[in-house]
Amino acid sequence: MKVKVIALTVLLVIVAFSLGSEIVYAVDEGPQIRVYPPPSRNFPLRIYIEPKDLDLSNHEYFICPSHDRIVQTFYEVERTFLKSLSRFVDEYPEYAILGQVYFINATDRSDADIVLEVVRGINYSRAVVLYGGGVGVEAYRLQIVCWEGERYGDIELFNVIMHEFLHTLGLGHAKQQYTSLGEVEVMRDVISDYITYPTTLDFYGLYQTYFGELSYTENTLVELPSSIRYEMVVPYDIEIEELRLENKNLRHQIDLMATQIDELTRDLKNVTESVKRLDVENRRLADQNKALKERLLDLEDQLTQLKTLKKDLEEQLAQARAEVSRLQEDVKALQALNNKLQLANQNLKDENSLLESQNQVLRRELQQANQAILALSVLTVCLIAITIAVITFRRRG
Ligand SMILES: [Zn+2]
Repeated sequence: MKVKVIALTVLLVIVAFSLGSEIVYAVDEGPQIRVYPPPSRNFPLRIYIEPKDLDLSNHEYFICPSHDRIVQTFYEVERTFLKSLSRFVDEYPEYAILGQVYFINATDRSDADIVLEVVRGINYSRAVVLYGGGVGVEAYRLQIVCWEGERYGDIELFNVIMHEFLHTLGLGHAKQQYTSLGEVEVMRDVISDYITYPTTLDFYGLYQTYFGELSYTENTLVELPSSIRYEMVVPYDIEIEELRLENKNLRHQIDLMATQIDELTRDLKNVTESVKRLDVENRRLADQNKALKERLLDLEDQLTQLKTLKKDLEEQLAQARAEVSRLQEDVKALQALNNKLQLANQNLKDENSLLESQNQVLRRELQQANQAILALSVLTVCLIAITIAVITFRRRG
């Protein structure tokens, strides 16, 4: 049996999907996606989770530290896929048969339609599907590289596993990167910072690959009918949760706005009061201004008067200066005269001094003369007295 499988594998074309693979699409067509034969048309599809991690470079087992994280993310991808699918058939009941697509866990690898295995030895995660193989040949393999489980964030890891999982269900790459609403098409190699759910094109492709009448070639394309809007199929619960969060966010914003309105109302009240105050102040200032204007006019008049006065005073000053100048000359002349008079005076003083000393001499001489006169007078008196006495004496005698 093993030999047979290997021989078959050689005959089959192994299509390993890689990012950016070259596919030629028709131009000017609607949204298109490449499809492959599905792993099985018997539902539910059996998925085997390989518990051992495989090193593809030497085909030996190893232990990947992120094994559990990858497996948990895969289960989340599976659940999300079914929820999106449920919404798709709900919105497009004409494809309700797609609801038959369901999964169970296979307990035996040889019994599985799809095998999930954590690997190393290849650069990126991939899906290995066997074109031309299909039912009962070999499980389609979903190989997630261990390092991606270690390094990718939750969203990126989810998106990668969703992409590869859809490959193992029979989808190739889509022609366009974005839906009509601008959402990232999960079946293209566009990096997205949000969860990428399968699109209506992906589900329509699956519908065609499981229930359509396709004859598969290496480049079988499915085009989305115009009756289906090309968009991401977000599961109801996710959308409801998103709407709930948005609602919550809006409520929060409304609360904030209410607070802001309160604040604005308060501000408005304050501003109104301020306006009133300013109005009063303004009126007061206008009055003051008027008074100041009058005062200014008054001052201007005074200034004019003062200017006239100043002019008069300047003229008077000029006259006074001329007068002073004249007087200064007079003073000079008087000074000269004074000098002369002082000189004359000095001469007179000298003369006077000379006269005084002469006078003093004369006085002394006069004094001496007086004393002499006095002495002579006394002598004369004495002589007279003696004479009288003599005479008297003689008569008696
Ligand atoms: Zn791919």
